[in-house]
Amino acid sequence: MILAHNLGFPRMGDKRELKWALENYWKGQLSQEELIKVGQDLQNLHWQRQKNAGLDLIPVGDFSWYDHVLDMSVLLGVIPPRFGHPGGGVDLDTYFRMARGRSVHGTEAAACEMTKWFNTNYHYIVPEFQDHQDFSISSNMLFEKVVAAQKLDVPVKPVILGPLSFLWLGKAKGEDFDKFSLLDKLLPVYGQVLERLKSQGVEWVQIDEPILVLDLPNDWKTGFEKAYAQLANSGLKILLATYFGALGDNTQLACRLPTEGLHIDLTSAPAQITKVLDELPAYKVLSVGIVDGRNIWRNDLEANLKTLEYIKERLGDRLWVAPSCSLLHSPADLGLEFKLDGELKSWLAFATQKTKEVATLKRALTEGKQTVAHDLQASTAAQQSRRQSTRTHQAKVRERVAGVNDKLTQRQSSYADRAKAQKEALNLPPYPTTTIGSFPQTANIRKARQEFKKNIISEAEYDMHMKEEIKKAIVEQEKYGLDVLVHGEAERNDMVEYFGEQLDGFAFTQYGWVQSYGSRCVKPPIIYGDIARPNPMTVDWIKYAQSLTSKWVKGMLTGPVTILQWSFVRDDQPRADTCLQIALAIRDEVVDLEKAGIKVIQIDEPAFREGLPLRKADWNEYLDWAVRCFQISAAGVEDSTQIHTHMCYSEFNDIIASIAAMDADVITIETSRSDGELLQAFATFNYPNEVGPGVYDIHSPNVPTSEQIVSLMRKAARYVPSERLWVNPDCGLKTRGWEEVEAALCTMVEAAKTLRT
Ligand code: GLN
Ligand code: ZN
Repeated sequence: MILAHNLGFPRMGDKRELKWALENYWKGQLSQEELIKVGQDLQNLHWQRQKNAGLDLIPVGDFSWYDHVLDMSVLLGVIPPRFGHPGGGVDLDTYFRMARGRSVHGTEAAACEMTKWFNTNYHYIVPEFQDHQDFSISSNMLFEKVVAAQKLDVPVKPVILGPLSFLWLGKAKGEDFDKFSLLDKLLPVYGQVLERLKSQGVEWVQIDEPILVLDLPNDWKTGFEKAYAQLANSGLKILLATYFGALGDNTQLACRLPTEGLHIDLTSAPAQITKVLDELPAYKVLSVGIVDGRNIWRNDLEANLKTLEYIKERLGDRLWVAPSCSLLHSPADLGLEFKLDGELKSWLAFATQKTKEVATLKRALTEGKQTVAHDLQASTAAQQSRRQSTRTHQAKVRERVAGVNDKLTQRQSSYADRAKAQKEALNLPPYPTTTIGSFPQTANIRKARQEFKKNIISEAEYDMHMKEEIKKAIVEQEKYGLDVLVHGEAERNDMVEYFGEQLDGFAFTQYGWVQSYGSRCVKPPIIYGDIARPNPMTVDWIKYAQSLTSKWVKGMLTGPVTILQWSFVRDDQPRADTCLQIALAIRDEVVDLEKAGIKVIQIDEPAFREGLPLRKADWNEYLDWAVRCFQISAAGVEDSTQIHTHMCYSEFNDIIASIAAMDADVITIETSRSDGELLQAFATFNYPNEVGPGVYDIHSPNVPTSEQIVSLMRKAARYVPSERLWVNPDCGLKTRGWEEVEAALCTMVEAAKTLRT
């Protein structure tokens, strides 16, 4: 039978109810009972909604109090010893302690590490494996959810993360050992989990193995065969779910594993269907992920149907229809958006709408198109309006993009010549000191912004407030003795939203939240149309800051790749094309800043690395256009104008050539936590330009000592010649308090003075 199903629903609730409940619970303002009720109500609502949409199988276990990988860790009993868990069932507080730090005795215990879930902006809690790690079922959460769903007559399909992906995403701690060696011990416990589900009357279970879209070592591939041969005995029907990319060289492996079904992502990798159809055994169900689970565009149902009809011809009833991946990565419900205009709204679909799209497609396949004629027409009309709208296509932008050539990517002279010109123009001391851009976003600043938004204060009043903040930042920096100052970014709520709001082609939602980690959500802007910059965006603020001081003030911009990466991006043209449009807009801003007398300009690219494709073979294509876009944004200025960029992470080894190709005069990076080690990459590659290794860990309330900073910088000088070194924090100071900032920056300046002598 052709079925419609879903891989996962967003957890937070339409208005982030889970977020508020969690945070109140952590503050002690909500009892555990009340928290659990909020969670249960949300799950019920989401199940009901998916059922009403017409789904035949509904995920259970996709809901999580914090993170679904953490759920697996507690289900399987993977609790790091520092949390003091006495063994047995893991309670909710232990679960939260793992995510947020603190042991059962109330003492500090480092929180488990958190890292990005594949190429999404969701962060999961990294499982930690000890050398002699044992596994045992240590939580009933999953089984209780199954009971709750069954009570409501929900057609239950439990979702768990598969054993190979679970191990892959974890980390071996302590003794150096290969985490893969734990597979043998892990499998029996997975077997027990399936047995329990079976005894609960479950028919289908979804086992996610997203690592099947990655480049896998051979032993891991063999591990898949072994694992699923063993799990095949459970008596449950297993739907093996893959997403975020093509199975590629793992196609045969995935198709031949002894599971009753396979889910593939046809949104991110439409071309893989041919190969999968050729390899799929005749007994197996293919779940086709055709509604994009990671974006917000309404599907072109007629086009989808063409694809599905073709697959149906090959598979008949063995076809299921689904979103490409869990809807965790899309906002909950478009119905709540009252500020978007009707036209734009008609182009969009959030999670709730996407489940309906899936059900509509299934109905068209099983009962005929005429039964859903209305939905199909509405979908087609939306596609048409989007294609023809003048809002998506601006002739001027198109013309300009067509005229882009290599010349636009190059500065006038090589770095060596520019460095000379900049030295003369800027007259900075050796080991110049600077910061990354933001200063503390105080309660005062947030209050002014709120009041401005609510029309309590006028724009002029708001601007006055912001100018006062900028003045304060300048006065403080002069007091500390920094060499290159910043304006402090008080006027920016968010480094992407701030620019998006001033660019054509961007839209903003009221409730378009997506979980980032735990209770934290982000609300990415929507890039729906051609991007143009009608007016300068930052020039007045920076000019004002510069007017207050005789030191150089650094202009502060967000780079094109980061703006792209942290938005929902239009899907009617390649991402590279959209990025190029942003790059041209930023280029204009850079040139305008220069014209206004600003001689140092920073173009932040903290999201540059996260755009890397999952497969190494695809890296170059991405890096080529990403580097080119950055270059285009930066290259419009004179030699004597100094371009900085900033990236706040510490993995550069594998992309250092591209970082160098960006050709920023100065790059500031996060290093304080890696003890300067990562500079090795810069040394080995012989990185040619200037580097500012972060010497102040802004994620910690600790203030470094001058000795620590001097020692870090001396270490850095072993890798990068001291004439090319800057002294700066790891990242922006937005989340810190003024007191710590003052102490840390004064120490930094003192350390720079020591270094100079
Ligand atoms: N200029 C930004 C700031 O200082 C950079 C933020 C970031 O790297 N994420 O806040
Ligand atoms: Zn940063």
